[in-house]
Amino acid sequence: MITEKIIMPEGPSIVIAKQEMMHFIGKKVIAVSGNSKTDKERVLNKKLLDIKTWGKHLLFCFDDFSIRIHFMMFGTYRVNSKKDTPPRLSMKFKKGEINLYTCAVKVIDEPLDEIYDWSADVMSESWDQRAAKKKLKAMPEKFVTDALLDQSVFSGVGNIIKNEVLYRIKVHPKNTIADLPPGKLTKLVSEARNYSFDFLKWKKEYTLRKHWLAHTKKTCIRDGDKIVKEYLGRSNRRTFFCNTCQILFSVDR
Ligand SMILES: [Zn+2]
Repeated sequence: MITEKIIMPEGPSIVIAKQEMMHFIGKKVIAVSGNSKTDKERVLNKKLLDIKTWGKHLLFCFDDFSIRIHFMMFGTYRVNSKKDTPPRLSMKFKKGEINLYTCAVKVIDEPLDEIYDWSADVMSESWDQRAAKKKLKAMPEKFVTDALLDQSVFSGVGNIIKNEVLYRIKVHPKNTIADLPPGKLTKLVSEARNYSFDFLKWKKEYTLRKHWLAHTKKTCIRDGDKIVKEYLGRSNRRTFFCNTCQILFSVDR
């Protein structure tokens, strides 16, 4: 099986990684290696019981602990093949192996339900739109660009999804949450999930880039205006938007 490299992974890419590894569930880890300092030997001779995702986290579940993988900005993985660089963590099974690179590896002893709010994960069956709206209303001064990247509200949403959602719902990135009319707030929440599932589908078809309308684009397909690029928000992320059709609701900004 071949796998695609993840670059700046967002939630849907982690779901794809999980799907490519599902066949190892129920299988025993027969060898472990890698340059991660985590107590990785704990997985040796243990049966992999489940693989879960929470936003950008990939979670390997064993009997009384889990291994959390965070791909950070440049993390990659291979299933049944290797890269030339040393892996952070490598788990071998009787038939095949999982190799993880340039990622943070951590052993988690707590039950996952205690530390993860599954309702915040835009890809999860437990995703709760009303809970997300409530969280947003509690942060009225936050800019929408930052709110979409807030993993406690939209776990799994990254910079691409942020840019595409704001373009799709015609909301200017320089609005705060309080600036948004109620209908737009609802749209922000629902499209964060909808776009994430479109992302998943297109990524699997290798057509994700082709479907970008704002991210890295030069011209708005709705009005022909320029798509501008600015580094916005607390994390200074690349933000692509159209000043014509993406509305700035506050007159003060
Ligand atoms: Zn436009």
